[in-house]
Amino acid sequence: MVKQTIQIFARVKPPVRKHQQGIYSIDEDEKLIPSLEIILPRDLADGFVNNKRESYKFKFQRIFDQDANQETIFENIAKPVAGSVLAGYNGTIFAYGQTGSGKTFTITGGAERYSDRGIIPRTLSYIFEQLQKDSSKMYTTHISYLEIYNECGYDLLDPRHEASSLDDLPKVTILEDPDQNIHLKNLTLHQATTEEEALNLLFLGDTNRMIAETPMNQASTRSHCIFTIHLSSKEPGSATVRHAKLHLVDLAGSERVAKTGVGGHLLTEAKYINLSLHYLEQVIIALSEKHRSHIPYRNSMMTSVLRDSLGGNCMTTMIATLSLEKRNLDESISTCRFAQRVALIKNEAVLNEEIDPRLVIKRLQKEIQELKDELAMVTGEQRTEALTEAELFQLEKLITSFLEDQDPESRLEVGADMRKVQHCFHHLKKLLNDKKILGNNTVFSESKDQDCQEPLKEEEYRKLRDILKQRDNEINILVNMLKKEKKKAQEALHLAGMDRHEFRHSQSPPFPLGNPEEGQRMQLSSAPSQAQDFSILGKRSSLLHKKTGMREEMSLGCQEAFEIFKRDHADSVTIDDNKQILKQRFSEAKALGESINEARSKIGHLKEEITQRHIQQVALGISENMAVPLMPDQQEEKLRSQLEEEKRRYKTMFTRLKALKVEIEHLQLLMDKAKVKLQKEFEVWWAEEATNLQVNSPAVNSLDHTKPLLQTSDSQHERSQLLSNKSDVNARKILPSPCPSPHSQKQSSTSTPLEDSIPERPVLSIPLTGDSQTDSDIMAFIKARQSILQKQCLGSN
Ligand code: ADP
Ligand code: MG
Repeated sequence: MVKQTIQIFARVKPPVRKHQQGIYSIDEDEKLIPSLEIILPRDLADGFVNNKRESYKFKFQRIFDQDANQETIFENIAKPVAGSVLAGYNGTIFAYGQTGSGKTFTITGGAERYSDRGIIPRTLSYIFEQLQKDSSKMYTTHISYLEIYNECGYDLLDPRHEASSLDDLPKVTILEDPDQNIHLKNLTLHQATTEEEALNLLFLGDTNRMIAETPMNQASTRSHCIFTIHLSSKEPGSATVRHAKLHLVDLAGSERVAKTGVGGHLLTEAKYINLSLHYLEQVIIALSEKHRSHIPYRNSMMTSVLRDSLGGNCMTTMIATLSLEKRNLDESISTCRFAQRVALIKNEAVLNEEIDPRLVIKRLQKEIQELKDELAMVTGEQRTEALTEAELFQLEKLITSFLEDQDPESRLEVGADMRKVQHCFHHLKKLLNDKKILGNNTVFSESKDQDCQEPLKEEEYRKLRDILKQRDNEINILVNMLKKEKKKAQEALHLAGMDRHEFRHSQSPPFPLGNPEEGQRMQLSSAPSQAQDFSILGKRSSLLHKKTGMREEMSLGCQEAFEIFKRDHADSVTIDDNKQILKQRFSEAKALGESINEARSKIGHLKEEITQRHIQQVALGISENMAVPLMPDQQEEKLRSQLEEEKRRYKTMFTRLKALKVEIEHLQLLMDKAKVKLQKEFEVWWAEEATNLQVNSPAVNSLDHTKPLLQTSDSQHERSQLLSNKSDVNARKILPSPCPSPHSQKQSSTSTPLEDSIPERPVLSIPLTGDSQTDSDIMAFIKARQSILQKQCLGSN
C-alpha cells in the first residue's frame, strides 16, 4: 500500500497581453518548497487610498512558470503517475482552474502544433512504449471517455451514434451494487492495442465533444471530461490479474458567480457557476477536515465517479492552472486556496489484484479430476454418476445380511462411496416403512419375540448409536467436502458470468475472457473486441465524412460562403501550416523509407558477401587440405564492421521513421479536428446570420431576383477571375458590402436601401435559381460576407 497526500502543482499560463510585472512571484523557502506569491494591487474600490498591499502566498509541490513547455509538464507531473499505473496502482491527474487558464491545453493539448500535445497523448505514447518493452507480462488496454454536463454523463466514444448534440450521445448513469461499488452503465470501454488506436479514440471523443457543443450549452467550459486508460496485466501462467485505471480529468471552469463583495473584498464563499464543482469542493472540505465520517460523494456524478481518486485507492495529482493577469487575480487566488485544501487529502493506493475466474474454473476442474482419480485409486473402481444394477443388487444383499446378523459388533461396510452410503439409507428407510405397514396389519410378533428373546441391552444400544454417529460424522465430512468443491466451482462460474459490459468502477475493467459463451456476449454488448475497434476507427472517418456530406447538402451559396469563411478564419493559417508540415513529414518519411530499404538491401548484400567468403574459405581448405582459419581475415573484418555500421544506420532511421509515423498521425488528427471545428463554427455563424437577416431586412423579400445587380467597372477584373472557376451562365453577381468608409457612404446616400448593402467590389458568383430557399441563402450570404468584411476592416484598423 502506498499512502500519500494528493500532489499539487501549479502552472502559470503565458498572458495574452504583455507580462504584467509585479503581480506574482515564485520563491522557494529554506526547505526548497516553492511558493507562489500573488500580489493584489492597492484597493481603490472604497474611494480612498488603501496603502495596504495585500499579498497571498501558496505552497505547491512545484510551480511551472509561463515558459514551461508541454514536455516538462509531462515529465514532471504525468510520467510518475503513469509509472505507478504501470505498476498496478490507480492514478488520477486533474486540471483545475478558471476558463481560459489552460486546463484543456495541459490535459489534451493545443490544437495547432505537434509539440503542443498534452498529457493524454504523451501518456498514451509512454504507456504503449513501456508495454512494448516489458515482455514479462501480458497487458490489455482499454479506453473510456466520459463527459459530465449538468449532472448527466455522456459516452463520448459511442460508435453507434452520430452526435450533433449532447443528447444524441448515450446517457451514462451510475449504478451502485449491494457492496456500494459504483458502476457506470452505458459507458463503453474500447480496447486499444496500439498508441495509434488509443489516439484515434481520443480524437473521436474530442470531435464528438466539439460537435455536440452548442453556443447555448457551452459544454466545453461547463462540462467535465474524464479520459480513462484501463490497464490490465497478467503474468503468463498466473491466475492473478492486476488492474489499474488512470483518469485524466479536464474539469469545468472554476469561475464563480460573485467575484468581489462590498468594498472590493474577495468573497471566499463566492458560488461556483458549476454545481458539480460545488459538490467537489464539499467533498474536498469534508476530506480535509479531521474526524469527518460522512463524505458526500454521492451528491454529484463527478464526485461519485472520482470517489477513489479523492481520499481513496488512488495516487492523485492536481494541476492548478493559473492565468495570472490583473483581472483574473481573484479567481487565481480561489484556485490556489482550493489546491491548498486538496493537498491535505490523504490517499491510500493499493494494488488491485483479482483472480481470473476463467483460470479458477480450470484449476478447480483439474482438482476435481485429480480427486476423482485418487478416489478411484483408493477404492480400486472408477466412479460413474449412478450405481449399476449389479452394484445395487450387491448392496441390498449386504444390507439384508447386515440386518440378519445377530452380532451387535457387525458392520455394514460399503466403502467410502457416497452413492452407496446414500442408497443404504434409502433402502433401510424403505424396509422400515414396509415393516411398519406390515407390523400394523399383520403379526409383528416374530420380531417382538426375537426382541424378547434377545433384548438389546441399553449399553449395547448406546454403543451402536455411537458407532452410527461416528459413521454419520465421517459421511458428513465427506459430503461437506464434496459440497465445498461444488460451491467453489459454481462461484467461479458465477463470477465469470457476471455482467461485463458495464464499466466496473470499484474493481476494474474486464480482462478479456476466453469462455466462448462469454466472448459472444462481450461482442454483442459493448465490451472490447477487435471488430468493434475497427468500427471506432470507422467512426472517426464517418464523422469527418459527415462533415463533407454536409458540404454536399449545402446550397451553392452556402458553399461559397463557407469557402470564404474558411479562408478568412484564423484557423485556416494553422490548417495550412499543418498541411505544409505534413507534406514535409510525408516526404521525409518517404525519403527515410527509401534509405531504409537501401540500408536493408545493403545489409543483405554484406551478409551474402560474408557467407560467400566463408564458403570460399571452406572450399579452399578442403581442396588444399588446410584447416579453415578460426579468426576472420582482414577483408572479413572490414565487411563485418561495414555490416554493423549499416545495421546501426538502419536502426536509427527506423526509430526516426516510427516517430515520424506517430507525428504524421497526430497531425492528421489535429487537422481533421480543426476542419470539423471550422465547419461547426461556420454553421453556427451561418444560422445566426440567417436569423439576423429574417429579423432585419424586409427588403430581402421585395428583391427582384431576376435583375442582375449593379457592378462597377473596376471590379470586372476581380470578378472575371472568380468567374473563371465557374462558368454557370445563370450566375448572378453578388456584391457584398465593404467596410463602412466615407467613400462608400457617400455613394450609398443616393442608392436604394438594398443598394446600400451592395458594395462596389464583386466577389462571388451565385447561380440564380428562383428558389426561395436558395435565395434566402444568398441573402444570408450577402449579410455574412458583409460582416466578415466589417470584421476584417475593424481588425485592420
Ligand atoms: P481552459 O481549458 O482552461 O478553458 P484552454 O486550455 O482552452 O483553457 O486555454 C485557453 C487558451 O490559452 C488556448 O488557446 C490555449 O491554447 C492557450 N494556452 C493555455 N495554456 C497555455 C500555455 N501554457 N502555453 C501556451 N498557450 C496556452
Ligand atoms: Mg477547456
